[in-house]
Amino acid sequence: MPIATKIAGHISKSSWIRKMFEEGERLRQVHGAENVYDFTLGNPDTEPPREFQEEFARLATRPIPGMHRYMNNAGYLETRAAVAEVLAEASGLPVGAEHVVMTCGAGGALNVVLKTILNPGEEVIILTPYFVEYKFYIDNHGGVPKEVWTNRETFQLNIPAIEAAITNKTRAVIICSPNNPTGVIYPEESLKELGEMLARAEQRYDRQIYVISDEPYARIAFDGKHVPNIFRYVESSVIVTSHSKDLALPGERIGYMAANPRARGVEQFMEGAVFSNRVLGYVNAPALMQRLVAKLQRASVDIGEYQTKRDLLYDNLTAMGFEMVRPDGAFYLFPKSPLADDVEFVKLAQKHRILLVPGAGFGAPGFFRIAYCVDRGMIERSLPAWRKLAQETGL
Ligand code: PLP
Repeated sequence: MPIATKIAGHISKSSWIRKMFEEGERLRQVHGAENVYDFTLGNPDTEPPREFQEEFARLATRPIPGMHRYMNNAGYLETRAAVAEVLAEASGLPVGAEHVVMTCGAGGALNVVLKTILNPGEEVIILTPYFVEYKFYIDNHGGVPKEVWTNRETFQLNIPAIEAAITNKTRAVIICSPNNPTGVIYPEESLKELGEMLARAEQRYDRQIYVISDEPYARIAFDGKHVPNIFRYVESSVIVTSHSKDLALPGERIGYMAANPRARGVEQFMEGAVFSNRVLGYVNAPALMQRLVAKLQRASVDIGEYQTKRDLLYDNLTAMGFEMVRPDGAFYLFPKSPLADDVEFVKLAQKHRILLVPGAGFGAPGFFRIAYCVDRGMIERSLPAWRKLAQETGL
């Protein structure tokens, strides 16, 4: 059965993900699951918080008539109002239910926003290292991704580099904080600087340039840090997020997008977003999950558990000689590859039954990603294998 040439190309470009998965399966069969240290997937190993289970049980025993029917494409008013209340508090701005569309995860929200704003050939700046799906999502809607490196030592925003990449075709910049794959949080000063630079660029090119703030890890922040609300700093901004990570619900596909109430033309944008949610075939976000997350806007999984895992890996791996930025949030580490070729390094790690993702998968060769949303016991069991790997690479 023929498939589109473009899709065939995309599949072959991301085929190492499949290879990694197959290799993991093979190693598990040979050595037993206990003895394979799989750090490849950002799939939380925790269960959703107690409040979720309670609400779930309540809804199951006392169903609401009509609760499985179609609804407004934007989602239930009650859910959007609950989301808006928290965003209004964080931003100090009058965010209302009318600024929120419930979506099928953050991935769904990104596609809704990109479909709404992009004309063919318009450019979207993505910051290296980036979540690889951005490129495919931008392409879905006829846009062109433009890669701009963050600071290579700190992974913080390189605002002069972003400014230099802006053209009269730039429509958006996607940021992600806490970041996948680096775990860094962009501080207030950087976001302020970004907002000021973009306001100048909007004037220069006489067009609105959006910041799309992808924040599924926003509640997973460590050491008392918090993620500044983008609406405070960038007028043309949109938040896309989900409860895949903070409530450990990735399989349930529940998230939202919210627009800055101060943005010029926000009413038209919201009309477009609701329409896009419909015609992308999502129609609306899952009804049952909307009812549940309406009650859970202030809940999250145990963040302390992730911080402990970060410390366990960061302290041990840096002591072995691996170099990396200490993450402020999310559940990833992005160390420098001890070998110049990160793909070779990842293959070598497989010999020690450690499964990793090469930096090349994030547009950043020379690094590798560890996803530590895994069982703590597995992290502890993996340490001797890491030690051997470090020795073998001459650290
Ligand atoms: N954005 C980033 C940075 C992610 O890491 C992920 C998932 O890993 C997503 C978006 C997609 O999230 P969701 O599963 O809610 O669609």
